[in-house]
Formats: sequence, C-alpha cells, structure tokens
Amino acid sequence: MLGAILKNFGEELSLEDVREPSNGIVLKVLATGLCHGDLHVINGDWRYEIKVELPKILGHEIVGEVVKGNGTFKEGDKVLVYNSIGCGKCKYCASKKYQYCEKVKIIGLNINGGFAEYVSVPSDNILLRVDGEPVKLAPLADAGITAYSSAKGITNEDSVLIIGTGAVALLALQILKLKGARVTVIGHNKNKLEKAKELGADEVINIKYDSTIASEVKESKFDYIIDYVGSDYTLSDSMWLLNREGELRIIGEFGGTITVPEQLLVLKGLKVRGILYGSFDDLISVYKLYNEGKIRPIVNTYKLRDINKAIRDLRDGRVIGRAVIVPP
Ligand SMILES: [Zn+2]
Ligand SMILES: [Zn+2]
Repeated sequence: MLGAILKNFGEELSLEDVREPSNGIVLKVLATGLCHGDLHVINGDWRYEIKVELPKILGHEIVGEVVKGNGTFKEGDKVLVYNSIGCGKCKYCASKKYQYCEKVKIIGLNINGGFAEYVSVPSDNILLRVDGEPVKLAPLADAGITAYSSAKGITNEDSVLIIGTGAVALLALQILKLKGARVTVIGHNKNKLEKAKELGADEVINIKYDSTIASEVKESKFDYIIDYVGSDYTLSDSMWLLNREGELRIIGEFGGTITVPEQLLVLKGLKVRGILYGSFDDLISVYKLYNEGKIRPIVNTYKLRDINKAIRDLRDGRVIGRAVIVPP
C-alpha cells in the first residue's frame, strides 16, 4: 500500500510502498485530516515533549471503512477513530479522558496512523460508526472533538473571544453560536476571517502584524477567551481582556509562555485552563451535531500522493479549514 512516512524530523514525508497492517481491526482509510500538530511533529518542535519514534506514518484524524473487523464491527462499516488509547486502569481512563492517561498511545503519533491506504486499530472501543461524506467526517475526529470540548460550559449569556482562525477555531465558532454565545474572532488572515463571518461570528477583528490584541479590542471584555494559537503574542494580553470571573482556555500548542500578575487573578477571580482534545463522548456529541446538519467542517481535499503540497499549503496559511488527505 502507499504510505507517507516521516523518516527524519524536518524533512518531507517519504511516499513509499509499505506492507499493509494486519493486526487488530484493519480499516481502509477513506480520509485523514492534516492537523497543525502534524506540522509540529514533522518539524521536530515537540521532540522533547511528545516522543515519536521514527519512521512513522502520521495522521491522527481518521475516517475509515472496516476491512477486517471483529464481533462488534463488520466489513463495510464506516467509522471515525478516536485517536487516544489509554491504559484502561487509571482514573483518567475510568472517566474516559484517555488523552490525559500517563500511558496514552496516540494513533498517528505513537502508532502508525492514517496517511496511508490502510491503518490498524488495536481495539474497537475507539471506533464510532458513522454515516456521511468521508472528507467532511474526518475533521470531527480531532478538530471536531477539540472544538466541542473547548466550548463546554459556555452559554448564551457569555461573550467569547476566539483567538485564531484555523480548523478547530472555525468549528468551535459554529458550536458556540449554536449555544447562543456572542462570539468575536480575532486573527490576521483576511480570508479565514471572512469565513468566520460567514459562519456566524458576531464580530471579526483583522489584527495588524505590528499591533497587539489588547489595542485591537480595547473597548471589550470577555467572559471567555479561547486561544487556539498559544503563542507568546496571543498569551500576553489575554488575561487583561477577561471580565471578572472570566476564563482563559488555551488549546493551541504554539509553545508560548504565559505570565500573569497574581493579583490580577485574585482580584478578578480569573481562571486559566489548558484543554487537550476531548473524550470519546465528545466525539459522539460532535458527530451528532454534524449529522443533524448543525455544523459544517470546512475542508480542502488533497490526494495522499500530494501530501507534501498539503503540508506546505497549511504551513503557509493557504488552507481555510482542514486539509484532508484522501488515499492514494
Ligand atoms: Zn491534531
Ligand atoms: Zn490510563
């Protein structure tokens, strides 16, 4: 089968003929989303935080068709893959928050993933049977779950500032609008901001490169700020823009550092939370929203053999929504 292999950090993926997997449940890959996380892994940015042993087939946002099943899943079933596999014994696994398990293994990082024609998954409790167009379904497996989990607890009484305009942010925006929140989106890519407006943002702010977030939104305060970037630049102003008892949620993993005067936190009762991915139940919930036509993943399709072009396009900001890879 054709597989895109990361052989060395910092290099292009190598397209090669590799042996098809045969262990566990085997899926024919229908589509796999390309995530910013993949870019960080390819660059080697996360070499010290997340151990990825090379060579590896990346791709952790997978929709596939079962070709070798078990009792529960049969040949021909179309499934979304929840990508985090926990130990099954710890308190995080007990509450189905496998992504926080100390021994978590991620399909597409620690185990070969979806940038290939076939992928093997070790157990059936990470599969969700689905219906729909594969390229639209794939982003639900990572971007969709993360968007859903990052919007939890927010209501129609809240004002929200979304920082960033990537695939997760554009899905979260739609989910927040379903909840009735007032949503402002800030970013510096005009085309992506236009898409945010089209998807229901109450306000979009096109930030200039030499400006700061605080100076662009100086008249407003927010109950929630959700940072889908996570850089020094985006983190430097956020806490100052929160209402009393406001909450900063950080989702993006750009590697920034946050410095907050403790008195600001105390006097205003502020909260800061990191949110990684979401639970299997979040996958069920976000799929339900998609299935009912309430959210719309924005996708750009690339063939597997063109994956390095997709990577360049994503890196250079040319992809609005998700780049989704379809084999071969
Ligand atoms: Zn991801
Ligand atoms: Zn565990």
